[in-house]
Amino acid sequence: MSYPLRQLEARLQKVVTVISTEIEQDDPKLKGQYVHRDSSGDKFLWGPTPEMHKFHNVESVAEADHIMFLCPACFAKNGGAKGTHQVMVTFAGRNVPEPAGTHDANGQPSRWQNHRRRVA
Ligand SMILES: [Zn+2]
Repeated sequence: MSYPLRQLEARLQKVVTVISTEIEQDDPKLKGQYVHRDSSGDKFLWGPTPEMHKFHNVESVAEADHIMFLCPACFAKNGGAKGTHQVMVTFAGRNVPEPAGTHDANGQPSRWQNHRRRVA
């Protein structure tokens, strides 16, 4: 069975790297980690490196670094979006940092190659 991407709630997104300069001082378990805050100023992510990767929706494939959509197999099994997980496919050649985007079973970045037909 196949579904249009619109029905699978497909979204084109761009990866944006955010650099934190704030280091956790208060929480003893997270002390020394880099802190990221949400738009209301609340801490929501801690990490050993200052970079964090966010995804912004964009309108065109040219701007996009990846596409997200509902898994078509589970969409069919579940009879819709409820309980269906998302699939993410990162495009090759878009300068997506290695820790962001998709990874294979060995933890290596996996990128979707664009197989262009050669025109003779
Ligand atoms: Zn699935």
